[in-house]
Amino acid sequence: MTKTIHPRSRKVRILATLGPASSSPEQIAALYEAGADAFRINMSHGDQQSKVAVIAAIRELETIYRRPTTILADLQGPKLRVGKFADGKAELVKGATFILDRSSELGDAGRAELPHREIFAAIEPGARLLLDDGKLVLRVTEHDADRIVTEVIVGGWLSNNKGLNVPDVVVPMAALTEKDRSDLAFACDQGVDWIALSFVQRPEDLAEARKLIQGRAALLAKIEKPSAIERLEEIVEMCDGVMVARGDLGVELPPETVPPLQKRIIEVSRRLGRPVVVATQMLESMITSPSPTRAEVSDVATAIYDGADAIMLSAESASGSWPTESVAMMDAIGAAVERDPTHGDRIHFTVTRPDPTTADALAEAAKNIAATVSAVAIICFTASGSTARRVARERPGVPLMVLTPKPETARRSGLLWGAYPILTKDVTSFEEMVSKSKRMALRHGIAKAGDRVIIMAGVPFGTPGSTNVLHVVRIVGDELNGYSS
Ligand code: PGA
Ligand code: MN
Repeated sequence: MTKTIHPRSRKVRILATLGPASSSPEQIAALYEAGADAFRINMSHGDQQSKVAVIAAIRELETIYRRPTTILADLQGPKLRVGKFADGKAELVKGATFILDRSSELGDAGRAELPHREIFAAIEPGARLLLDDGKLVLRVTEHDADRIVTEVIVGGWLSNNKGLNVPDVVVPMAALTEKDRSDLAFACDQGVDWIALSFVQRPEDLAEARKLIQGRAALLAKIEKPSAIERLEEIVEMCDGVMVARGDLGVELPPETVPPLQKRIIEVSRRLGRPVVVATQMLESMITSPSPTRAEVSDVATAIYDGADAIMLSAESASGSWPTESVAMMDAIGAAVERDPTHGDRIHFTVTRPDPTTADALAEAAKNIAATVSAVAIICFTASGSTARRVARERPGVPLMVLTPKPETARRSGLLWGAYPILTKDVTSFEEMVSKSKRMALRHGIAKAGDRVIIMAGVPFGTPGSTNVLHVVRIVGDELNGYSS
């Protein structure tokens, strides 16, 4: 049975991580109906086989709702993680001794496995080990090739496979682990739209991933290392999308440096026309509570005012008690911020001057004309999605309908600010371009009779990279008559 979903006027995108709390087809559909625009599959948890059904359930939404879906597979990267516990978790007590070792036995309150050989050689007495995004802190007292003995400085509950950061020493690890290579091949075989690379340190790390992906997915760089900040522009230029990965970033660097860095990463990403996601702890308290703190609401709002393309839910939607409510909360915050009459001015605090290209000149003009004539949408015909990215970069005040014959372009556009992708056959004439634009805007509820829309396309039709037409039309209202597609 096909269902319809009301077209979203919200321009910021919601990226919801799936996990044990949200893996069934019903739960995924509930998140989608609540406002999730794209789904993140975290390769750090669970095995590949368990993702097959989840990916199929997301794509099934395309049959049910007749809308493209967007899937991002997030590779673990060279992230250090502890092993598993006999009871799934253990409580580490302040002042107690806790040992990390190379035994694969399940852990308890006194020890756990640390399955990373490199760290046993690199660690030093006195170094801090930060667990679970820095919630727990250990200090190294002694170590050898097989164990690291620590004192618990800040205690708490530690559960299976939680992350570990070692900010005081450099641990030499490859950008893509064996697991990442295997997960990358799996994700490409499964046809995901985006692949995220964790702990990117250098532009070369992205080049390596790009070679393995071979154009089968877009590549997103997670910014969570101090070394990535040092080469930010080069890294952003090398990828297709960016994540402000605040969880690890705020552990690797002092947390108070994260807000200014968030603004800088968004600014660079927007300037270079790469979609940028703000991630981690956005509605953290909703893991256990049906309502967020006011500070969390404010944090989500700030990311939207900063002009981020997307905001992300992690454990809130993956393993929390209130996954649908978390998405609905983000949706409500997005709607409220975008209703604020100062929203447009605030996001344009970041100035993105057009590059000296025809596509950018038209993209900027489309934004300005839309405002001048109060058009209700910009409609862009694109094969690669490049025109859509340049228009979204302008952050126009109206939705951007992305009409493309390519499923991968429609799906990848799902992370793009304001984009409303529609999979449709290519047009072959100017007349067809205009009639299809009007028809699609009406059918998808984006325009009504009397509204103006702006159309962007390339002539000759079907030639990639040829965007050179900008056309303003008024919709009469009888465009739906007599057409079938
Ligand atoms: P993670 O990445 O959830 O995979 O750690 C996001 C972050 O570090 O903020
Ligand atoms: Mn991370």
